[in-house]
Amino acid sequence: MKPGGKRIAILGAGPAGLTFARLLIEQSGHSVTLFEKSHRVGGKSLSVLQGEDLIEFGTCYTIMSHRRVMEWMRADGITIQKIVPHKIDGVPARDFFNSGPGAPLAVQGIRYVQARRKLLKALESDAPPQAALDEAATPAIEWLRARKLGKIEKMMMRTVTGMGYGDLKTVPILHAMRWVDMDLILSGTLNKIYMPVEGWSEFWERLAAKLDVHLEAQVRQIDRTVNGHRIVLADGTEEHFDALVCAMPVDRFSALLEPTESERVVGDSIQWGGYATTLISSEDWFQEQIEYYSETCLPGVEPGLLMSARREGYDAGLGGHLYIANQLPGTYSGSELIEILREEVTKRGATINAVIQQEIWEYFAEYKPEAIKAGLIARMRQMQGERGTWYTGASFSHESVANICIHNEALVPKMLKALG
Ligand SMILES: Cc1cc2nc3c(=O)[nH]c(=O)nc-3n(C[C@H](O)[C@H](O)[C@H](O)COP(=O)(O)OP(=O)(O)OC[C@H]3O[C@@H](n4cnc5c(N)ncnc54)[C@H](O)[C@@H]3O)c2cc1C
Repeated sequence: MKPGGKRIAILGAGPAGLTFARLLIEQSGHSVTLFEKSHRVGGKSLSVLQGEDLIEFGTCYTIMSHRRVMEWMRADGITIQKIVPHKIDGVPARDFFNSGPGAPLAVQGIRYVQARRKLLKALESDAPPQAALDEAATPAIEWLRARKLGKIEKMMMRTVTGMGYGDLKTVPILHAMRWVDMDLILSGTLNKIYMPVEGWSEFWERLAAKLDVHLEAQVRQIDRTVNGHRIVLADGTEEHFDALVCAMPVDRFSALLEPTESERVVGDSIQWGGYATTLISSEDWFQEQIEYYSETCLPGVEPGLLMSARREGYDAGLGGHLYIANQLPGTYSGSELIEILREEVTKRGATINAVIQQEIWEYFAEYKPEAIKAGLIARMRQMQGERGTWYTGASFSHESVANICIHNEALVPKMLKALG
């Protein structure tokens, strides 16, 4: 730590905590310590070596918006590999998008980008007009249909619902807009979608190697005072810091301390969804790299159904070709999801030989529409720095590594300025 430097604690060593720490270290001489409850870093990234194949159970792709992340990957010796264009019901994604009604896709794309920019700009104000708040809370499908953006609706079925970011019938357009930006549209159109060959877990390990990370260090309690903050870990040890960064779900964070009004309101405004990834083997399923299924991204879709699957490799000992299958868990248990998965695969003319591993994630913090209408987004911006605490992660930006990193790139300079 440089003279006059502050002691900063980051709670959580998932993508949010690690990228925040890296940016802090690059830009300041403060002392930065990360606390991570798990035995590993990376949060919802989990790469598992299965025979000779590296399987991603969590984070998988980078697109054009992952600029900083890909820069770090290159610097840390991680190779990125382009994935082949995926299909939906066996046809190229672009044909699926074009099957939507209305003007040509390019024209709808321009209209969408303009309307998006206008709304997000209005929301940047400290006191956005009520009309903008109401618009941001509108269910995505209503918003799109009112603007005759039928092809963008199809694109959002795949990129929003099909990726577990909410049903277009209910998810506020704000969430869809945060994800579906020009970078995403171009990445899809130009097929600029990549995966790290060495795996996401390896990338986070290499990033963490340059940081002070305490593993198996679950934060159990936080006491904030004007003179600093005391952190108590599950094993009873205590440490003191000048500033805190919440890089864990904010609703869980609020339960560790006496929450401020904003922490309480934001925690209450979030409803978490889920995402289940199951590694199976089959000899006779599809030969493409990735398949999506339109019926599971239609508005009003039931949870449990198979959203998509990725072919990962071959292992005769494990029963043939390996596939990662993705489902929205809803309230189903792991074993119920596997039963549904068997039916889904059989429906598609194949058989599951073995179920190898299943992970069920807490995924995608959706904001309640009434909270958006009441000014949640401005509150989330204004609470940054209150009581020496800053907030990042999936519950603050959007559930993607790129969005989290972009959020951090904007927040770190503000934090450094406030720390002096
Ligand atoms: C199946 C799946 C596929 C995905 N695919 C992609 C993709 O292709 N591209 C992409 O960009 N994103 C993808 N994502 C999303 C991305 O993985 C997440 O948005 C990202 O991991 C969120 O990072 P985070 O740091 O906010 O939260 P997390 O990853 O959840 O990390 C939070 C960390 O905080 C720790 N923690 C919690 N409580 C405490 C405590 N009390 N004390 C100490 N530590 C604590 C947790 O153990 C965890 O490590 C995917 C996610 C899933 C589940």
